Amino acid sequence: MPFSDLSDELYELDAQGLLRHRRILESAQGVHVTVDGCDYLAFCSNDYLGLASHPGLIDAACRGAGQYGVGAGASHLIVGHSEAHHKLELALAEFLELPQALLFSTGYMANLGIVSALLGRNDVVLADKLNHASLNDAALLSRARFVRYSHLDLQHLEQALIGAKGRRKLVVTDAVFSMDGDVAPVPELLALCERYDAYLMVDDAHGFGVLGEHGRGILEHFNVQSPRIVYMATLGKAAGVFGAFVAGNDALIQTLIQRARTYIYTTAFPPLLATALLASLHLFREEGWRRAHLRELIAYLKAHLHMERWPLLPSDTPIQPLMIGGNQEAVQLAEALRMQGILVPAIRPPTVPKGQARLRISLSAAHSKEDVRRLCEALNEIEKNA
Ligand SMILES: *Cc1c(COP(=O)(O)O)cnc(C)c1O
Repeated sequence: MPFSDLSDELYELDAQGLLRHRRILESAQGVHVTVDGCDYLAFCSNDYLGLASHPGLIDAACRGAGQYGVGAGASHLIVGHSEAHHKLELALAEFLELPQALLFSTGYMANLGIVSALLGRNDVVLADKLNHASLNDAALLSRARFVRYSHLDLQHLEQALIGAKGRRKLVVTDAVFSMDGDVAPVPELLALCERYDAYLMVDDAHGFGVLGEHGRGILEHFNVQSPRIVYMATLGKAAGVFGAFVAGNDALIQTLIQRARTYIYTTAFPPLLATALLASLHLFREEGWRRAHLRELIAYLKAHLHMERWPLLPSDTPIQPLMIGGNQEAVQLAEALRMQGILVPAIRPPTVPKGQARLRISLSAAHSKEDVRRLCEALNEIEKNA
């Protein structure tokens, strides 16, 4: 039989509790969703500010479609770089107080493009072990020497920097770790990069819009700025839309325009998304209550979840992982919640290390306290009866 080798591998995945399934979302993204015909209270999305189906963004997208049509029709370097993209790049740079910004179609593509444009065979990339998969793939694609240091371990990183021989050195890190919710010590990382003349690339996918008083992300959170930093964030999470960008100095952005293959050889994302994103930046400014409410929900969850068997990882971000351990057990727990109308995703290897399957609870400014109370009560009850 053709592909029977693949079927064997799939059977094996299933036996290990690692087979993944897609659910069909029938409503707009939000905290109350309809999935496969049932209504749920959801703690699954990265829509941290609750903007993904905000009427202001929908209006802006419709206006964008009216003005620019639906498809960009070409790459940025041919004729796909619309006025809306351009305005969004200017607005992002201004918002972050950085010289320039450059849009990419997705965060995954931005990471591949940035690392492989900046590094080649004679260079070294030093990466936190728990970085997002796209950063690891980026390092491999660049063909630079790839050194991974233990999670948040500055001593280990320093040793790796001392041993790193190469034309250019790039330290790469998630700002907020996507499956753990903890935060990289950016000022200390930057100090090491200064001492050993390395660049620091920060992937702020989960911090942009969320961290900092104004939502400017990890750089505002730590109040750091440096021409050594390659700042990257995505626009499909807190910003509620789609896409990604890099921000930094002029030489960095020019180099990416000239060399980043995932920028050059792909269609620009639809301009209507850029008009929607301009509206989300506006809401970052105008609706600061979203961040304040989110912070309250995080504190509320941590105060009201009384778990002993399954501890919450220490995290002050909207990503609140409940450590389960076994794959099947994590899936069963998610299933028990689902039976009560609550969706929380079970995250299993290879997304997280073996034996560290977890429920990844993610909070959104669109949740009410009552929503979070319901989740806590359900989990506390399940543990009591387990
Ligand atoms: C989601 C994510 C990405 C990928 O971004 P997309 O725009 O979804 O492709 C990259 N890095 C991190 C840390 C992420 O969480």
